[in-house]
Amino acid sequence: MSTLLPTSIVGSLPKPSWLAEPERLWSPWLLEGDTLVEGKQDALRAAVHEQERNGIDIVSDGEQTRQHFVTTFIEHLDGIDQERKETVRIRDRYDAAVPTVVGAVSRPKPVFVEDAKFLRAQTDRPIKWALPGPMTMIDTLSDQHYKSREKLAWEFATILNQEARELQEAGVDVIQFDEPAFTVFHDEVQDWGVAALERAAEGLRAETAVHICYGYGIEANNRWKETLGAEWRQYEQSFPLLQQSSIDIVSLECIHSHVPLELVELIRGKKVMLGAIDVATERVETPDEVAAVLRRALDHVDADKLIPSTNCGMAPLARGAALQKLAALSAGADIVRAELANVAVPAAR
Ligand SMILES: [Zn+2]
Repeated sequence: MSTLLPTSIVGSLPKPSWLAEPERLWSPWLLEGDTLVEGKQDALRAAVHEQERNGIDIVSDGEQTRQHFVTTFIEHLDGIDQERKETVRIRDRYDAAVPTVVGAVSRPKPVFVEDAKFLRAQTDRPIKWALPGPMTMIDTLSDQHYKSREKLAWEFATILNQEARELQEAGVDVIQFDEPAFTVFHDEVQDWGVAALERAAEGLRAETAVHICYGYGIEANNRWKETLGAEWRQYEQSFPLLQQSSIDIVSLECIHSHVPLELVELIRGKKVMLGAIDVATERVETPDEVAAVLRRALDHVDADKLIPSTNCGMAPLARGAALQKLAALSAGADIVRAELANVAVPAAR
């Protein structure tokens, strides 16, 4: 990727209202059978078109073919009883009825590989595919088989690695693992979380990314954020471990968060996907606001390692606002690119 400050999004975009009920998570599909397959592909086409039209350089599928970033992957695995729901506390924050692990987990067939091939055929730009991370997966299940979070995470890491290798063969340039659980379970991140993540990414030629955030802009997350105080220092725990890890890119939340930017210094040397778009509000950022965040980040990230991005997925947002936010992101990146070009190339005399 030779573009300076290549823009990207964390993952999801709102789905069209003819495909799924808008502005909610786990929104049920409004189509069925072959029509649903075709509808998902049309939505993916539109997501690619909108990203390209709005200047996004590393293109994603907008997660148009999945209901949720974790559960859709889990639904395709064996060893999990989807009907047997038990209530667990997700990320120590809110209760949800989740499926139960009842036997050895495995991936009977590829989950997203056909979708990734479809995305590959839609664009010549580099493409990124998001998978859930092992720790976030176990946090979305009730385990009655392994009875060990670490063991189950390790099994999932092996499965994720199988999927990631096939996504790479399908032409995916960047494989991203979503680990919002990393901002919550600090001891486990240290003990086995980063090791499990590296296992998931093992042997890949594609670039690897980990997305660590404070969650979608939904009410339970917003309430939790209010309890975190004036400075959010959660990244201070995971960043030094990630700096030492084999993962290439760290995706983090920044704009309108209380994350002190100097924490980014802790991952110096890694590429940084920096959240310069707030996903918890439909107010669209101005290009200048985006540029201001990027400029501040450049104190801690080398310019050739900065990837302007969103704080998190945009699935629950209004579609119009989300698309305008894409335009604001690339316009903000344009401003800073021009400034960097001026610094790098002094005017000819
Ligand atoms: Zn996120």
